[in-house]
Amino acid sequence: MIQSEVRKLIEELTKLPGVSLKLAHKIAYSVLNDSSLKSVFNNIATIVDNIEICSRCGFFKAKETDCLNCREKTDEICVVATYSDMSAIERSGCFKGSYHILGGLIAPLENILPEDLLVDQLKKRVEQSQNTEVLLALPFSIEGDATVLYIQDVLEGLNIKLSRIARGLPAGAALDVLDRRTVLEALQGKSYID
Ligand SMILES: [Zn+2]
Repeated sequence: MIQSEVRKLIEELTKLPGVSLKLAHKIAYSVLNDSSLKSVFNNIATIVDNIEICSRCGFFKAKETDCLNCREKTDEICVVATYSDMSAIERSGCFKGSYHILGGLIAPLENILPEDLLVDQLKKRVEQSQNTEVLLALPFSIEGDATVLYIQDVLEGLNIKLSRIARGLPAGAALDVLDRRTVLEALQGKSYID
């Protein structure tokens, strides 16, 4: 019979993505048996508490500090839907500019509307930098295409080069599930949008 406090701990752990009931049991008993592991939970809480999303570029940053991603002018901005797409591009190692994380894709059926995404903030960043190139690293899905069209519309009339990563990705695939080589090819095969 598991004590209710231990059960609560296991329940909390299973709320984490990728943590099965079996793994939750393992972590719970490890932590309860090894006092040095208890500080890990405190450390996580403190660190997470000190991280916020930059209202300008969607990147994570430490509270009350300048955002390292968007504080400087850049000549290339890569637009992605999520943080995990960004980290897939980072791992490919072939993009050296700054990122802009929209926070999702337009999906009216899921109640994600254009105003929920950081598109106006993208426009502001583009206006503040000069001769910027904007690379849209968004999936080739209905939601991805709708988001590209919307961004095109918002950025229209600005003096920028707008491009999109290459087609040929698995339909609707998010960048973060692709291997490094596929991400690399998608970035290198970008095409310009008028
Ligand atoms: Zn930022």
